[in-house]
Amino acid sequence: KKLGIALVGLGSYSTYQLAPALQDTQHCYLAGIVTGTPEKEKIWADKYNIPKKNIYNYQNFDDIAKNDDIDVVYVVLPNSMHAEFCIRAAKAGKHVICEKPMAVSVEECDAIIDACNKAGVKLGIGYRLQSEPYTNEVKRFVRENTFGKIRYVSADAGYYSGGNPDQWRLNKELSGGGALLNMGVYAIQSTIYGSGQNPISVTAQEYSTRPEYFKDTDETITAQFEFPNGAVGNIMTSHNINANSMYVSAETGWFQLQPANNYGPLSGKTSKGDVIEFPHESQQKLQMDDFSKHVLFDAPNIAPGEMGKRDMIICAAIYESIAKGGQKVMLNLEPGYGFGGIP
Ligand code: NAD
Repeated sequence: KKLGIALVGLGSYSTYQLAPALQDTQHCYLAGIVTGTPEKEKIWADKYNIPKKNIYNYQNFDDIAKNDDIDVVYVVLPNSMHAEFCIRAAKAGKHVICEKPMAVSVEECDAIIDACNKAGVKLGIGYRLQSEPYTNEVKRFVRENTFGKIRYVSADAGYYSGGNPDQWRLNKELSGGGALLNMGVYAIQSTIYGSGQNPISVTAQEYSTRPEYFKDTDETITAQFEFPNGAVGNIMTSHNINANSMYVSAETGWFQLQPANNYGPLSGKTSKGDVIEFPHESQQKLQMDDFSKHVLFDAPNIAPGEMGKRDMIICAAIYESIAKGGQKVMLNLEPGYGFGGIP
């Protein structure tokens, strides 16, 4: 059986990445859509052969409970809408994939996790890199101590956000935060799978060079982490700087990915002179198939809700450190999820 997925929110990520990837997935397919824009209904129905009964809007979305074609609801809306639609999907008895960042607060992450637990449905976060081979090779180096003990991880994730100050990503009400929530989660994740551990403290700084453009949300943030195994980490995330890399320094060598977080193919090398190289496959395809295997065959959940919540706790601690003038904030995270669902 292939699981039927309904995409909620037909913006650029659904249009240019998820829907095309769902044409190649092995264990799921694009069965339905949920859109607030009536003109998109016919365009998507024609393009992807979606029957009228599998098309919903934000108002009648809850009726999806009665639709056996839909097994999974994938929420691809602005961040502040994730919690509402994930919870409605869970209450409708559907498994849930929630885009990153999971929500705009830790409380919302808890509410999503609770709703999925109560409904007995599975929850995954749209962390496509967790299913991606270059990233999994890095995780393997760390897990197998290929270069000895990890001492330092740095990760940068950002892009230059040009000429549209009205986009929802720069509007705190809709995004919950700026560069940190949008791109910073990738850098945070890189330091975690680059060290294999969750951080125990964070110290952070914010920079604003175009306050007239970034009126409402963070432009550039740097943050430093301490890890329980003694490693230290450093991230830079920005809506004003193109940046896309991770670097790990270990006892007997180093490895790096650059790019480290775009749609691929990624690229990597190591101090041994090796080039990290894999055939390119759509990350979104791998991610949605991984989640489907979790639902269908009880395979590991590669990016569970708890991982999304962990990253939200770290983001909140980064904002707290900035608000306290760069004071160190201690984290009390449960161990685990360092390598995603891979043991
Ligand atoms: P987008 O702006 O292209 O699309 C947003 C969609 O939400 C549009 O269809 C829009 O009509 C709809 N929407 C509903 N209410 C809205 C409102 N009040 N304001 C604005 N739009 C509204 O955004 P996107 O790039 O598709 O991002 C959607 C989600 O996907 C975000 O959470 C984002 O972080 C995530 N995302 C993840 C990745 C990834 O690589 N995993 C990549 C891109 C986006």
